Amino acid sequence: MDQTQPQRRPQKSEVREYRPVRNRRKGFRLPIGFVVVLAVVAVALQWTGTVDLGIPLGAPPASGSHAARSSNPVSVSDAQADLRDVISSAASVVRSAQFGPRGPAGEAGPDYEHAGEAAPPQAGDAAAPGSSGAPADPSSTAGSATGSGPRVTIPDGAAARGAAPLAIAPGSQPVALPPSGDGYRSEVERAWFSGGQDLTHRALQARTRALQLGAANYESASRALLAPAAEGIALERAMLAARLSPDLPMARMELAGAYLHDGQYLNALREVGAGVAAIPRNLEASLWLAASLLAMFAAVLTLGSMVFIAWVGLSVFRHAAHDVGDLVSRDMPEFARAALLGSLLLVPLLLGEAAMGLVLALFLLGFTYCEAGYRRALALAAMLLVLGIYPVTRLSGMALTALDSDPVAAAADSVVRSMASSADIDILRTASAREDWLAEAALALHERRSGDAELALARYEQLLDRTPTDPVVLTVLSNMAFERGDNARSIQLGERAAALVRSATLLFNLSQVYARSFQMDEFEGAMAQAQLVDPEVVAELSKTKAPDFVADLAFPTAPIRDRMLQGAGGDRFVDPVSRAIMPGHIGRDWVTTAGAFALTAVLGVGIGGGLGRASSCRRCGRRICGRCDGTVWNSQICDGCHHLFHRPETTDPAMRMARLSELRARESRVSRLATLASVLVPGAAGLLARRPDLGFLGLFLFFWAVLLILWRKGVVVDPLAIGAVGPLLFTTAAALSILGYGLVVGLGLMIRRSL
Ligand SMILES: [Zn+2]
Ligand SMILES: [Zn+2]
Repeated sequence: MDQTQPQRRPQKSEVREYRPVRNRRKGFRLPIGFVVVLAVVAVALQWTGTVDLGIPLGAPPASGSHAARSSNPVSVSDAQADLRDVISSAASVVRSAQFGPRGPAGEAGPDYEHAGEAAPPQAGDAAAPGSSGAPADPSSTAGSATGSGPRVTIPDGAAARGAAPLAIAPGSQPVALPPSGDGYRSEVERAWFSGGQDLTHRALQARTRALQLGAANYESASRALLAPAAEGIALERAMLAARLSPDLPMARMELAGAYLHDGQYLNALREVGAGVAAIPRNLEASLWLAASLLAMFAAVLTLGSMVFIAWVGLSVFRHAAHDVGDLVSRDMPEFARAALLGSLLLVPLLLGEAAMGLVLALFLLGFTYCEAGYRRALALAAMLLVLGIYPVTRLSGMALTALDSDPVAAAADSVVRSMASSADIDILRTASAREDWLAEAALALHERRSGDAELALARYEQLLDRTPTDPVVLTVLSNMAFERGDNARSIQLGERAAALVRSATLLFNLSQVYARSFQMDEFEGAMAQAQLVDPEVVAELSKTKAPDFVADLAFPTAPIRDRMLQGAGGDRFVDPVSRAIMPGHIGRDWVTTAGAFALTAVLGVGIGGGLGRASSCRRCGRRICGRCDGTVWNSQICDGCHHLFHRPETTDPAMRMARLSELRARESRVSRLATLASVLVPGAAGLLARRPDLGFLGLFLFFWAVLLILWRKGVVVDPLAIGAVGPLLFTTAAALSILGYGLVVGLGLMIRRSL
């Protein structure tokens, strides 16, 4: 290109930057700015406590975890072990929360694979007085383990453990159960276990009862139906499971899988969509997803930013090494200069600052040598790094520990899921004595679901006094009035509730009451409105065909989730993470980390301004240094290249041609290497194209893809809630990230070619 236009006039910027430098020959003077900067470093080191210069800048902390840490340094592997402990404890928390009582046997929660066998989750009840003779564990898949054909029989195992009411001989009619003290944790559970031998009949009976009692999801039965050991046609079981727990993503995905197996692709696709849409409505699934995504996000921010800073720092290593060498002696060979700078970079590591110390040193190099665009990118990287290590890790820890953070919320959740143990009820009773609203509401629900009408009525009336505008309470009271035949009261309460929420269930209830009190216009109006709000709900509620069927509103998830998140603390997750990458002073807290980066940035700008920075020629790659070279055309192009390209009349034509072809060969060699690096090294494509933003984006997408694939099953074990939706979401996201990464690499290559 330059060959065809040898007379090209110097570009404007090159003319402007023409400043021959001749005055540094007599020796290198330490710039004043550099001295100032050294003083700042000294103060900073004193402030962070690395070096004791005797400057009274406030006493270092005498006690606390950090002081303990610095007097007895924790190695990186210790911190990693801590992290593993925390994560595995979180996993067991999630598991035990899933498998019921937080009693002594809570840790012994079975794996999904074993859910088909007689399972232990009811340890709390078994240990409680008065529960002898209870069915061992109605929430397990007891029913499905034995028997033949699609019919499911109640196993002998349950009977052997004293479950007399469940000992139904095959073919016989369900035995009427005693009204109370029979060990069922709710009326829903009773319906599920006394529904006879036909699985479909049992499930439908349980579903009807569950709807009646506001149990929108009966997850225990769904999991039992989905257990690998369960008998019957897979598609049928999956359909029943999804019917019993429409908001359980795992059930939706199992159904999708069964449809797929059956060749019903559209239905499968619809169920996948339903599974994804169900996540926010399911407490366990949403917390699992939030914890996993936040943990990955924290890791991406941390790793991406650290690697970006390292790449930028390393890209100017050669120039920095030359300048550091000039400080010692101008005659120093290149390899000695590199060794000198390399050992200087390792100093923070020796001071116990670990990986972050090295990153901070490279940050200093980057900030010293790069122009404004790169400095902005470096500052952004530092900010995202602090964000990833502190608040995002903390949030992910909160989501991980939320399920077990508040005993009252956890007990309330068990009640909502119809699997409360007597230990849960004790917790709720204790809390309700303190006038805890959530405990009261959960207890009321428990009493309602246990069939204890009088107790439930009294408690719901109390709740109504406290919260007269709670539609759930109003609906339950309206339904209770309906059940005892008090139509007028039922209509009054129902209409009050209908003024507060637009719910198809509530309108359906009202239509039932209107019908029974022969208010046919109102009946039709309410039914039409219910159809408008949600025809599917109306269709399901109408299926019972019972004239006296009304359904409670489901207990809202929000108060339980809020309570859990309020009680959850993520700080114990931050500590091992920050200790793993910065066990020294930088990792004391987020202010110190952010402060260290801010000071380093100021230091970098100071050194960069005061120091004659070495650079390299864009044409031939020769090092340019104002001190060593005497005459410097500008920092972009060496003197020789300037004459070669811009003032060809001053060069010998033959030599000029030889030199140009040499440079062309070099350029194509460099270009091949750069292309290779762009493809192989994450982030290199953007940086080599002199686009720090693209480099950053490339690194982020790369780490996203890697982590999504590595952690596609989540950072903790799925609490049997999200099922295959999680891995599906993560794999899809990983595929999109890889696609995005490919685009960034391609864009980087294109931009580099046009440079
Ligand atoms: Zn050159
Ligand atoms: Zn030099």
